[in-house]
Amino acid sequence: MANIHSFESMAALDGEGLRYDVFLTGCPLRCWYCHNPDAWFPSSTEMTAEQVFQKARRFKPYFKNGGGVTFSGGEPLLNADFINEIAPALQSEGIGYCLDTSGSVPLTEPVKKAIAGADMVILDIKFPDPERYRKYTGGVFDRFLEVGRFCTQTGKRLWLRTVVVPGINDTEADMDQYAALVRDFRFERYELLGFHTMGFFKYEKLGLVNPLEKTAPLDRDRLDALERYLDSKLAKNAPQEKA
Ligand code: SF4
Repeated sequence: MANIHSFESMAALDGEGLRYDVFLTGCPLRCWYCHNPDAWFPSSTEMTAEQVFQKARRFKPYFKNGGGVTFSGGEPLLNADFINEIAPALQSEGIGYCLDTSGSVPLTEPVKKAIAGADMVILDIKFPDPERYRKYTGGVFDRFLEVGRFCTQTGKRLWLRTVVVPGINDTEADMDQYAALVRDFRFERYELLGFHTMGFFKYEKLGLVNPLEKTAPLDRDRLDALERYLDSKLAKNAPQEKA
């Protein structure tokens, strides 16, 4: 049984191909830039693995070119047992799943199993040093590193993501830190996402303090420039071919 925030069909951002996104509630973090604070709390929707599987299966004809289910949240790995329960049913239909995670949970056996069963993992790299990580998420810095290393050691396909927030992690020096942090990870892509304000209304609705209410969205040109800069740093990290 899992507590469900929402579903999104035909999503195209959270993994390859067309996705059926399952947003699970609960998160150990409190990211200042979170645009889904309503996912921190339980909803009124509890569903069994079988019920979620039956919903996802209806979209099977659209899961071409690597498409499938994405477990997101909140933090999906808080529900590792649920994911491990639904995984054989998805597998029996040839439907793969992706984990969209902050990696902010201890690397327990159920969590390892949920990762091992995934087609791929999208891992949030939130802040590049323990101080900012603690300040802006409230979480434990080492955990996502352990998840990234586990994916690397087990050959799991890995994409990385960072939300860039003006005034907090939007400098070239920050990109240097991110590039150094993931030097030992084996990953296919590293995407930067610009901070936006589209979730602000949720803080008001929930009566929550929004610590970034005075922060403007990240400028698109600035995001592009940082992306180019980060790419150049990551290219330098890549192993060089021997002559
Ligand atoms: S990990 Fe995701 S859901 Fe949790 S607080 Fe951070 S942005 Fe929000």
